[in-house]
Amino acid sequence: MFPDFQEGTEPLGDVERHMVGIHLAYKRVPRGLTIETVYPLAPGESVGCSVTAGTTVRVVNPRGHQVVDLWAFVQSDPTEYLSMAHNRTAHYSTRFQAGHVLVSNRFKKLLRFIEDTTDGFHDSFHAACSVQSYAHFGSDQQHPNCEDNLQKALHEAGIAIQITPPPWNLFEKSFVDEDGLIHDGTTSAKAGDYVELHAECDLLMVFSACRSTIGNIQGGDPAGAQILLYQHDTSAAGY
Ligand SMILES: [Zn+2]
Repeated sequence: MFPDFQEGTEPLGDVERHMVGIHLAYKRVPRGLTIETVYPLAPGESVGCSVTAGTTVRVVNPRGHQVVDLWAFVQSDPTEYLSMAHNRTAHYSTRFQAGHVLVSNRFKKLLRFIEDTTDGFHDSFHAACSVQSYAHFGSDQQHPNCEDNLQKALHEAGIAIQITPPPWNLFEKSFVDEDGLIHDGTTSAKAGDYVELHAECDLLMVFSACRSTIGNIQGGDPAGAQILLYQHDTSAAGY
């Protein structure tokens, strides 16, 4: 699906959606980890998946040029979810980084931020793109939007929550200047960059490959993403 990997990365090959229990060679797979599931996302696509405690989640930017909206809800009580405001409060930072444990709207530990190959820009300010946001910014874009993608995923999971928490916008470059103004830049994620997280409890996670090009946040047309879920494989050589 992503044949144009740059030199230095290895394609995953003919990976089909939702394959379970397969072992794949991917250049930067940590030894002792087994790929359980791979979700390739074209721009505008999303996926919702149950992520059990202990699962490692890797969000890959195979070609660069892709912002990924991420949500996480506690499986046992989806009114508890990953909250950007609570994380800014918990970490006294607007930009989360490897080593941080990301928390819920009740300060429960949800996701441990393990690794980040980018230069560290993952927006925590912006709401998900939506029909209304496109109208607000005067865009006539009619792309699939991240808010609808989230609601569709929640509906499919049988979760009757109609709010859209502000997502964690992986690979989206934003920053605040000394006057308090928010600035958007073009994503600095390069082909093959990824973010890796560790689930601290059972979660429903939703990932949406944002289709928006407002503000040129994608650095051109968005190019798709991959979501990989790993489980520790204690039988692996060298584990
Ligand atoms: Zn979006």
